Amino acid sequence: MRTFKQTGFNTLKIAIDGPAGAGKSTVARRIAEELGILYIDTGAMYRALTWKALQSKINLSAPGELHQLARATVIDLQDNGHGMRVYCDGQDVTTQIRSPEVSRMVSVVAADDNVRQVMVDKQRAIALRSDVVMDGRDITHCVLPDAEYKFFLTASLDVRTMRRGQELQSQGYEVDLARLKQEISERDQRDMNRKVGPLMITPDAVVIDTSDIDCEGAVRKVLGIVREG
Ligand code: C5P
Repeated sequence: MRTFKQTGFNTLKIAIDGPAGAGKSTVARRIAEELGILYIDTGAMYRALTWKALQSKINLSAPGELHQLARATVIDLQDNGHGMRVYCDGQDVTTQIRSPEVSRMVSVVAADDNVRQVMVDKQRAIALRSDVVMDGRDITHCVLPDAEYKFFLTASLDVRTMRRGQELQSQGYEVDLARLKQEISERDQRDMNRKVGPLMITPDAVVIDTSDIDCEGAVRKVLGIVREG
């Protein structure tokens, strides 16, 4: 029998927000694994659209072009048992969406109100159908404001830069840490200061600082709270 806290949803919702490099994806994926439920990385959805926008060379500042692209694009997240794969119109773009070019532009694409509406609608539709752990920037207050469990994962800018740097190096990129730190900080600023769905801590979210704990420590904290009900 289910012992989790219940709200208006018939399904379990765990919402996790936080800035880049706070460990959200790793933590969220592990929680979903432990609970045997779906994990949705909403950042990957914005990244896939950004990848397509860069490929199509559309004018990012022309009104309507991004909206049109968002509506015409099919983004699919699939867990094949060895990690999540991201598909954009049927093409596997899992690796491409993590490129520095996409990371530099994604918060510009994500600031478009119409793009956000398309994405939020898709994310809510998924959450209506299944138990889900969803991570992003606006999940706790915009996509799933009624989620039973809400977390905000954060860490110092230096720790987040180190993590992203190691991730990029492991993918074969050369990393300039000072530049990366600057880019992450600019992305945070754009994410926090946009009009719609900004990155923010809601009063009902449990804040977990992962600067001094590893992801497993954060996973234990989250699972402790969820299992207590
Ligand atoms: O989580 P990740 O760092 O991959 O997210 C990439 C970008 O996508 C964020 O910096 C933000 O601009 C955008 N994003 C968003 N809302 C979400 C998830 C991601 O605006 N729910």
